[in-house]
Amino acid sequence: MVRAFLIKYAEIGIKGKNRYVFENALRDRVLERLSRCEGEFIVEKEQGRIYVEAKTAFDPEEVTEALTHVFGIAHICPVVLVNDKTFSHVCEELVAHMKEELGEKPFTFKVFAKRSDKNYPMESPEICVEAGAYILDHMENARVDVHQPEVSVYVEIRHRAYIYVSSVKGPGGMPVGTSDRSMLLLSGGIDSPVAGYMMAKRGVQIEAVYFHAPPYTSERAKQKVVDLARLVAEYAGTIRLHVVNFTDIQLYIYDQCPHDELTILMRRYMMRIAERIAKESDCLSLITGESVGQVASQTMQSLAATDAVCTMPVFRPVIAFDKNEIIEIAEKINTFETSIQPFEDCCTIFVAKHPVTKPNIAKMENSEKNLAEKIDEMVEKAISEREILKVEP
Ligand code: ATP
Ligand code: MG
Repeated sequence: MVRAFLIKYAEIGIKGKNRYVFENALRDRVLERLSRCEGEFIVEKEQGRIYVEAKTAFDPEEVTEALTHVFGIAHICPVVLVNDKTFSHVCEELVAHMKEELGEKPFTFKVFAKRSDKNYPMESPEICVEAGAYILDHMENARVDVHQPEVSVYVEIRHRAYIYVSSVKGPGGMPVGTSDRSMLLLSGGIDSPVAGYMMAKRGVQIEAVYFHAPPYTSERAKQKVVDLARLVAEYAGTIRLHVVNFTDIQLYIYDQCPHDELTILMRRYMMRIAERIAKESDCLSLITGESVGQVASQTMQSLAATDAVCTMPVFRPVIAFDKNEIIEIAEKINTFETSIQPFEDCCTIFVAKHPVTKPNIAKMENSEKNLAEKIDEMVEKAISEREILKVEP
């Protein structure tokens, strides 16, 4: 019976002297994720691997599914632990497990053995040969192929014997929390949740900001963003979501500036506010879901016009992705269905029929002079009155 999981690392294996930082973070993220599964688990680091062992009854499928959400994991192997490591007993358990996993279908295999218990009476090559022979004797559907086996059979002799024959692909990436913190501009669309997921995959701790414009945008539109943050949190861990009321700023820009510049001016204020909140929250960068050429506000000139108001780096992980490539990821991480719910987001109401597509920064700055009287005060108010939600997975 499967009682443990061997977790093989993704990239963190190559982190040299800082490796323990990554391993500890991975262990912590695994424990956090498993705390939401049925059962009790212990997690142990050992020789470049992590073992998860169940101390109580548990659901192997639920645990495997949970672990596919933890960045830093390359492979998850369900392991049978054998306390009595007498070789004949290990072989019996091995074949029983293989029958359960592989059924009656013909397959080719190769045995890999590892012996950490140096007092064990057999050496690794002998374990391979003998275990292979035992499998051939007891499974008619088995055939050896040492070059390209369909099934890799692992037998590890430690203080107990560990047996595993299959593995599930993990999500890759690096454990969240190992690459500092970043502020995601999260809208209700398809792109920004994907952008957040992609940065979290590189170990970045995500914080998020959403600009809403009540009564032009509804409570339901805000709930949709909270729902999206929760789905991203399935991978990224708990996300602090700052909800900023943008209505007054939007109306003021609408009253004072040329309408074809609205979108870009609004985006510049979103970026400014996002950066202010990011600094307060110890974030070192911003993240958006922009993709070059997708809409008027995402031309090279528009991107330059929004970047110009920030000093922090702005990461746009989907910048070179086609919409269908972004959708593919959105479907994989389960945000797509929520993203396409038809609730207005704050930009759609104020969009001009013919927005400028090649904004000139000097001209934008000039238009912003029309806002001089009240804008600073409005920005302060929007920041200080923001709502902060803790969105847990
Ligand atoms: P998305 O699918 O992420 O909504 P989009 O194609 O609708 O993207 P835009 O509306 O131009 O693109 O927005 C570009 C980016 O600006 C978004 O990906 C997001 O990062 C940010 N953004 C836009 N509107 C908001 C908002 N109301 N609150 C927070 N961020 C926003
Ligand atoms: Mg949008």
